[in-house]
Amino acid sequence: MRALLPLLALSILLLSAVQPRADAVQTAFNDAIAAFETARTGLAAENFGVDVTAYQDALTEGQFASRHWGGEIAVELIEPAENSGACARFAAYVHLPAHDGRVRMVVCPQFSADGTPALRRLTVLHEMVHVVAGADECRAMAFAARVELLANGAFTPVERYWRANDCDQSPFRLPD
Ligand SMILES: [Zn+2]
Repeated sequence: MRALLPLLALSILLLSAVQPRADAVQTAFNDAIAAFETARTGLAAENFGVDVTAYQDALTEGQFASRHWGGEIAVELIEPAENSGACARFAAYVHLPAHDGRVRMVVCPQFSADGTPALRRLTVLHEMVHVVAGADECRAMAFAARVELLANGAFTPVERYWRANDCDQSPFRLPD
């Protein structure tokens, strides 16, 4: 049995003093996993260039076999205590490319401090696309929106984000 890396890391965090924050992150991962598992049967093996099996393994087990990066890749979840560095601008981000068989996903303090459970779930779904398929913002948002739609019958409006990233010029599309 493979290690449940993100949840394992989170359960270790739960023993520490940052319980409310860890709860928000764990809830977001659990919500993202639940949405993905509901959406799973509606997804082809590959969607928008995302290998769905790799995505599932990355999200649920923190480890995946990657055609994109090559080989077996572990997802390393990092939760810095302060909003310094890139955390000054982002709620969460992924260090790319994969390095030494790892992709590092950083969940910043503002991830838990701001937003709603639905936005946190969307953020996890979105960042996990970066984990398995690289930096393209339009791919990440198109895939996350498809998962949301299949899971909930609706997806979060992301038009501003879509425009800001010139995604109309990309090969990716939001659901109709
Ligand atoms: Zn992104």
